[in-house]
Amino acid sequence: PMSLSDPVKPHRICVCVRKRPLNKKELAKKEIDVVTIPGNGALLLHEPKQKVDLTKYLENQTFHFDYSFDEDATNDLVYRFSAKPLVKTIFEGGMATCFAYGQTGSGKTHTMGGDFSGKSQNSSKGIYALAAQDVFTLLRQKRYADIDLCPYVTFFEIYNGKVFDLLNKKAKLRVLEDEKQQVNVVGLQEVPVSSVDDVIKMMEVGSACRTSGQTFANASSSRSHAVLQVILRRRNFLHGKFSLVDLAGNERGTDVSSNDRHTIVETAEINRSLLALKECIRSLGQNSEHIPFRMSKLTQVLRDSFIGENSRTCMIAMISPGMNSCEYTLNTLRYANRSF
Ligand code: ADP
Ligand code: MG
Repeated sequence: PMSLSDPVKPHRICVCVRKRPLNKKELAKKEIDVVTIPGNGALLLHEPKQKVDLTKYLENQTFHFDYSFDEDATNDLVYRFSAKPLVKTIFEGGMATCFAYGQTGSGKTHTMGGDFSGKSQNSSKGIYALAAQDVFTLLRQKRYADIDLCPYVTFFEIYNGKVFDLLNKKAKLRVLEDEKQQVNVVGLQEVPVSSVDDVIKMMEVGSACRTSGQTFANASSSRSHAVLQVILRRRNFLHGKFSLVDLAGNERGTDVSSNDRHTIVETAEINRSLLALKECIRSLGQNSEHIPFRMSKLTQVLRDSFIGENSRTCMIAMISPGMNSCEYTLNTLRYANRSF
């Protein structure tokens, strides 16, 4: 059973795992749940009691995380233990970053944005909105109100190593690095916001933009990284930045069956960026001087997240519970298994 007390102090890096419930389709197909959360941050991927040969994948493996959340956990609970402890960081002049990692359909967008499924938009419940809520709460506190911080939002997508502005009709943007290694996304819209509703509006504008004009909207949005940032400026200078990243699905990592050139290039780019991300987070955790942020566009654009005394990161690894997903689930758990 999970402890409901709030975490005391934010770690520099926090890695969580979240299991979603079996969905209707999986239940209808009588899929077997192969994931157990035994408590204390551990997670057990086990062979089901039914007689199925899974020896190829499963060895009753236990993985360890800072926190693990089972199918009953709400977004609110996940938020409280993952991203919430990072909000203060940006008020103290630091960089905070929260990544949602996992295969397509595992719950990344559900966790970050709330639900964007069809007409029933319920965007106020995801980590984007919950973090924005806390940012505005802190902005009103006297100790922060006095230092005159102004909040802005950006929302962009990285697809195939290119950056597109979701708050400006998907304009393609250039990324420049100056001699001081400062990375600048040229022309990225920073929209001033004065309430949570403003932030939610931008989320909705950006999410609609993300999937517009695409025949296979969901399929292609799962092939890109989406980055929503809440930026605090003080007299126009950058004070702190919270980057909330809905990563591209990692499922193609094991798929070598494709002959389609476009898919191969796309997959290679996703693999490159997820590997780069892992390397950068590991370097951050080891307080390394050298952060290999140039390894991919994703890590280059997020360079600020990996430098400085005040950088804090959390990664939420999403997993599907079904037996048919267990190969992907294993990949996700190996990637996130407190390896950094
Ligand atoms: P991803 O963004 O990783 O591709 P989604 O967030 O779109 O996955 O989730 C896929 C489906 O599963 C959605 O319909 C979503 O509402 C549902 N879902 C995901 N996580 C949960 C959860 N924890 N509880 C209930 N439904 C969930
Ligand atoms: Mg998604």
